[in-house]
Amino acid sequence: MARVYNFSAGPSMLPDEVLKKAAAEMLDYQGSGQSVMEMSHRSKVYDDIIKGAEALLRELMNIPDNYKVLFLQGGASTQFAAIPLNFMNGSGKADYVITGQWAKKAYQEAQKYGEVKAVASSADKTFSYIPKLDKSEFTPDADYFYICMNNTIYGTVYHELPDTGDVPLIADISSCFLSEPVDVTKFGMLYGGAQKNVAPAGLTICIIREDLLGKARDITPTMLNYQIHADAQSLYNTPPCYTIYICKLVLEWLKENGGLEAMREKNVKKAKLLYDFLDNSKMFRGTVVPEDRSLMNVPFVTDSDELNAKFVKEATEAGLVNLKGHRTVGGMRASIYNAMPYEGVEKLVKFMADFEKANS
Ligand SMILES: *Cc1c(COP(=O)(O)O)cnc(C)c1O
Repeated sequence: MARVYNFSAGPSMLPDEVLKKAAAEMLDYQGSGQSVMEMSHRSKVYDDIIKGAEALLRELMNIPDNYKVLFLQGGASTQFAAIPLNFMNGSGKADYVITGQWAKKAYQEAQKYGEVKAVASSADKTFSYIPKLDKSEFTPDADYFYICMNNTIYGTVYHELPDTGDVPLIADISSCFLSEPVDVTKFGMLYGGAQKNVAPAGLTICIIREDLLGKARDITPTMLNYQIHADAQSLYNTPPCYTIYICKLVLEWLKENGGLEAMREKNVKKAKLLYDFLDNSKMFRGTVVPEDRSLMNVPFVTDSDELNAKFVKEATEAGLVNLKGHRTVGGMRASIYNAMPYEGVEKLVKFMADFEKANS
């Protein structure tokens, strides 16, 4: 069996150990005589899975008791509307920082519901940096302040969080979820689609400070009302059962491998290998300013579209797949999430060095 190194931005690699365990449990989950795909979400055996996943997530991320953990559907994109519908309920105002396509989509969606301000943007340089924030631009009575923590398409990350005072900070962490420790208490809400770093597609995880709940607008669709899902412990309706099960296996894998501190160490080591190569190459270069570089998504280019295409093609043939950059930016992008082993990045860097020699 030949497994490739998959650099896709999402859905993306899952740990081999997780896939093997899921395969072994496929026909008979722990003596239940059923696959997890087949069982009722109201059964005792399934309840242990969803409760177990939540407990592991709380432990790994050190989530305080005054935060709710919700396992939802609809992707990160559905939360772009749910966030204003649930939280833009005081002044009807919110601040957004525009650091890429996902932040912009969230901002545009929120405009349907209130007075939304873009307090800063890095659109002027194709989102290749995190803009410096001027606090005098912030809306003092905003209902929340919104950021996209790790910008999957452009490869930037906030190394320092905006100081929003009493205004709750809400962050889309889809592409850096569980990649390193994060201080949950700094946020009103953290959320992300699971298909980047946590599970297969179909699951969205929302972590919400309790005091922000219960104030959704009357027109909020029931299925977008976080309070409803919190009260029902994510079982208001059928949750994405199998994806939550795989999520639990990934969380167990994380715990067995030393948790988020160990994961950060591993991710820093992988990213450094690639960035160091890019900084020393005469053919390839990273597109992000060094101080805002993501550990998870590494975009890079050569000076020629033709060479870029040749590189992606030959890399694919060598078992290094999904290296083509996002369709809106071109070039290349290597997504090196938790499940990407160090050897995968080593193989990539070796391949890049050989390609550079052969083509210059
Ligand atoms: C992928 C991604 C999204 C979109 O996620 P969906 O689950 O497909 O809606 C939103 N934000 C970020 C940062 C992403 O990486």
